[in-house]
Formats: sequence, C-alpha cells, structure tokens
Amino acid sequence: MDATLLFPLPEGMLIEDVQATETSLSLTVRATHPTSCCPFCSQASSSIHSHYQRTLSDASCVGRQVQLSLTVRRFYCRNRVCERKVFTERLPHFVQPWARMTIRLSQHLQAVGLATSSRGGIKLAVRLGMQTSRQTLLRRIMELPDLPEESVLYLGIDDFSLWRGQRFGTILVNLETHHIVDLLADRRAETAATWMQQRPDIMAVSRDRGAEYAKAAADGAPQAINVADRFHVVKNLTEALQLLLARCQEEIKAASQTPEPCQDEQSKQVVSLEEWRPPEPAHVEKARLARRAGRYARYQQVVELQEGGMKPKEIAQRMGIAQRTIRRWLASGTFPEARKRRKRQSSFEVFAPYVLSRWKAGERNGLALWREIKEQGYTGTGRTVYRYLETLKQAEGKRICQPATPRSAFSANTAVWLGCRVIRRAWMRWSKRIWLLFAKPASR
Ligand SMILES: [Zn+2]
Repeated sequence: MDATLLFPLPEGMLIEDVQATETSLSLTVRATHPTSCCPFCSQASSSIHSHYQRTLSDASCVGRQVQLSLTVRRFYCRNRVCERKVFTERLPHFVQPWARMTIRLSQHLQAVGLATSSRGGIKLAVRLGMQTSRQTLLRRIMELPDLPEESVLYLGIDDFSLWRGQRFGTILVNLETHHIVDLLADRRAETAATWMQQRPDIMAVSRDRGAEYAKAAADGAPQAINVADRFHVVKNLTEALQLLLARCQEEIKAASQTPEPCQDEQSKQVVSLEEWRPPEPAHVEKARLARRAGRYARYQQVVELQEGGMKPKEIAQRMGIAQRTIRRWLASGTFPEARKRRKRQSSFEVFAPYVLSRWKAGERNGLALWREIKEQGYTGTGRTVYRYLETLKQAEGKRICQPATPRSAFSANTAVWLGCRVIRRAWMRWSKRIWLLFAKPASR
C-alpha cells in the first residue's frame, strides 16, 4: 500500500521507508521532482550538483511524533548572468529552506498556542504528538503578521502583569471585535493618553476604577464616555457584599448564640451598681450590636492587611479610616471595644444599695420597694426603681442556666430579611457610583 495515502506529502516527494515505535514514526523521504527553480533568477534547472540530508519534525500521525529524514538536492544554475552558481532545492509549500519543522507542524503549534497558553499549550501539544517548548510556541505566535490597524470606537483598557506584582503593562482591546489592539510597556496615564490621542474616534472607554486610567481617558479621549467595566463593577460589588455579610455575620452569630451554661454561684450573682445602666430599648441595642459588628469586621481587615505587610498609612488610605485610629487599633493588640456610655447621675444612686440588699433578701415587689425608699427621702418616681429591678431580673435571667431551649430568633424569616437588607444597601451604595461614572465623563 502506498504510504502517502496515510501520510500525505506534496507532489514530487516519495516515502522510501517507515520505522514505527509506540510513540514515533521515522520516515525516510526523497525529493524526486526532476527540476528546481533558482531562487535568484527563477530559472528552472535539472543539473544536479549533490544530495544532502535534512532532519525535520512533521505534523503528528495518530498521536505519534513524526520525524522526516529528507534527502534533497543541490542544483547548478545554468543562467550565465545569475550570480548564484549552485542552489539548494526549494520545497515552498512544505518547508522553509532554513527550518527544522514543516510548515504544517508550525501551523498546528500556532493554533495550539493561540487557543491555550504557553504552559497549557505544551501539555496539549505533547498529548497530540507534537514535541515542543514554551519558547517555540511563543515564537510561532510572534511570527504571525500584525492585524491591519482598525478604527476603535469602544476601547477596553486594563493593566496586566509582565512580572507578577512588580511590572505592569497596559492592554487595549477593541470591544466591538474583541481583538487586542495594542500592548503598552507600562500603565502610566501619560502613555495611555498619548495612545488615545492618536485615535480621536474613540467614543467610549471601559476601564477599572483606578485614577491612572481615569486621567488617561480624560487627557487622551475627553470626547469619550467613561464606563466602569463589568468585571470591576462586579468585583467591587462582591467585595462590598462580602464586607456587609461579614458584618451581618456577627449579628447572625449574636442572634443565634445559645446562652452559655454557667456555674451555680454565678446564678446567684446580680449586676453591681457600677455596671448598672438602665436597660436600653431593643432597637437601640440592635443598632449598637450592628455598629460593633461593623467595627469588628473593619478591625479584622486591618489586622489582615497589616499581616500582609501593609503599612498603617496605606491601610488608612485603602479603608478610609483615620491613620491615628489604625495605629491605635494595631497597638492595642485586641479588638478595642467601644467605651460604655456615660452613666447619668441620678438621685436613685444613694438608695440603690438598699434596693439591692432587699432584692437579695427576696423582695420582688417594685411598688413596695419604691414606697420604702420614699420613706427614707427618695423624691424620684417609681419608674427608675422598676428599671433597676428590670436590670436585676435580666442579669439573673442571663446567668440562670437554660440549655434546653436555644434561641430560635434567627429564623428563616430573619435570614430573608437580612439578605434583602444587604442587597438593598449594596445597591444603594453602588448604583449611585455607577450612575456617576456615566454622568460625568470628563471628570472621572
Ligand atoms: Zn540563477
């Protein structure tokens, strides 16, 4: 059977021998065309000077690497006015005169390189029976001719890293054709602005929310509308939602926590006079807990950033918190609780020890206690006495063990309410900013 049926070669080439192993095919091939054209004068010649061997890699055959041992010839040029007396045989559609791989293998590698990355491309190429390296893949891609310069109406701009975390360049994309239009060596505003100035037909610039590209767009394409690209909007929104959820998580934890069982002697303790504050209304307590959760989330973020090597000044700029606060938080070493609200002076203070002692003795009647201290000279209303007793009741209730019934306050309804609130707050916060981006093209 003719081997060229399974392994096609250009006309005038003959397969003389095939050696097969599990992973490779070695073909001995000879060029048989009777004439060849001189590359200088293009005159055909049939006068053979000599033969020589070329070793070429070719496109794989059913997953096997293919190696060609190709015998080609040198010809005399018989054109007397031609400078070249001897020339090597040309196989223009099959292999370049200097190449070590065939044109079709080169095209296959180009396709692999364009569809993947250099590292991923190597893995795929090897699997398909094409031995290659990262540099070869990149060279094949770099050999591709540049696309003709096209008009860019909608420009996408962003940075990319040439050396991760160290050196950055700028990538410019035509958002209509999704083609990369250009790559710039840095991400400075001046460079990008100069590039944009050469293209006055840009109508819209889609960019991140950084100051550099905002300046570049304002200087280089003042006529264009600036928009935040979807990636960065979603990224920023995700970060904001995560922060909000982190805050709410504290609330969720606080709401779903079971009161810890306590010791018997603790159950007998009641709150001291110093600690005592009139009980705060439920909505005030809730707001205070939410504020605390927010502070705690911010504190954790500050600690994480510092552990990541960021300086207090940078942390302060990034988080929009005063540098002094950041330094104080970091110096404290633990989460700094907000100071307790100041206790208002009250005429009840003098009578509170007596009420406490009566409470400990078992008196639970507020009216009776109020009457008792009124006889001793207390001029205030019974309301203060009731509030104090309420605090004592709460203090006892908290310390009495009630492990059997964990709080089910954080029900599905609460979760839905919290979710809705998070989304609403995120939307209110971000919709305004997105709108601002559209509304003030020149200044953003
Ligand atoms: Zn010639």
